[in-house]
Amino acid sequence: MDRRGFVKITGLSALGVAGAQALPRAEETASPQAAPEGKRPSRRWAMAVDVSKCLTEKDCAACTAACHRAHNVPDLSDPKDQVRWIWKEPFREALPEQHHDYMNESLQHADVMVMCNHCDNPPCVRVCPTQATWKRDQDGIVMMDWHRCIGCRYCMAACPYGSRSFNWRDPRPSIAELRPEFPSRSRGVVEKCNFCEERLAEGKPTACVEACKAKALVFGDLMDPQSPIRDLLRTRTALRRKSGLGTEPQIYYLV
Ligand code: SF4
Repeated sequence: MDRRGFVKITGLSALGVAGAQALPRAEETASPQAAPEGKRPSRRWAMAVDVSKCLTEKDCAACTAACHRAHNVPDLSDPKDQVRWIWKEPFREALPEQHHDYMNESLQHADVMVMCNHCDNPPCVRVCPTQATWKRDQDGIVMMDWHRCIGCRYCMAACPYGSRSFNWRDPRPSIAELRPEFPSRSRGVVEKCNFCEERLAEGKPTACVEACKAKALVFGDLMDPQSPIRDLLRTRTALRRKSGLGTEPQIYYLV
C-alpha cells in the first residue's frame, strides 16, 4: 500500500478513535500527585515562566534561539512554512481567559513565551494513529518519534495550543548550522518541543533555561516537594493556558 492509501485508512480509523475519545476521561485528568501509591511516576517535569522577569528583557528571543539551534529547527521566513518549538504570543492570546481590560498595563501588552505544554492529559496523543507521539510514564514528557509520523496532522488538529508544526518542505536547507548530534527531520512530519529530553538524560538544563538572561524560567520535578518549582507554585499565583479544557498543561505562568 502506498503512503497516501495508508494515511487514508489510518485517518478514517483515527477519526473514529478521536470521536470516541475526544473528551478527557476523569481518571486521566488527575495529576500524578493524585495517583495511588505505587502508580506515581518517579518524576514529573514541568516549567514555570516568571512573566514579569521575562518582560525585563525587552524583545529578548534568547530562549527561542537556543532551543531552535539545539534542535535543528529550520528558519523559514514564510509564515505558512514556519516550524516553531518556542515562540512568543501576546498575553491576551496566550491566556485569553485571564485577560481583561483593567489588568496591569504591562501584562496587557506583554508577549509571553509559549511552547508545548507537555499536558498530563494530552489530546494529541489520543488521536495519533501510529503512536508516533506518546506521554512518557517515567516523567510525563510528551514525546515524538519522527520515523513513525505519517504526517496525517491529527495531532495538530487536536492540540488546542497550536504547539505543533508541520514540515511542509524539506527543513534541512533552512537550518543555519546543522548539529549532527540531534536528528533533523524531513518533509511531511510533525514536530514540537521535547522538553530537551536529550539534555536531561545527560544531566544538563534545558536549552531555554540555560539561555534565559532574566532567569525567568524554572524547570523542575513536581514530584519533589523540595524542588524550586514546587516552592514557586506554592508561593506564587500560577496560570495555565486554557486550563478549562482538562488537558492539564505543565507550563505554569507566574504573575
Ligand atoms: Fe499535545 Fe498540544 Fe498538550 Fe503539547 S500542548 S502535549 S502538543 S496537546
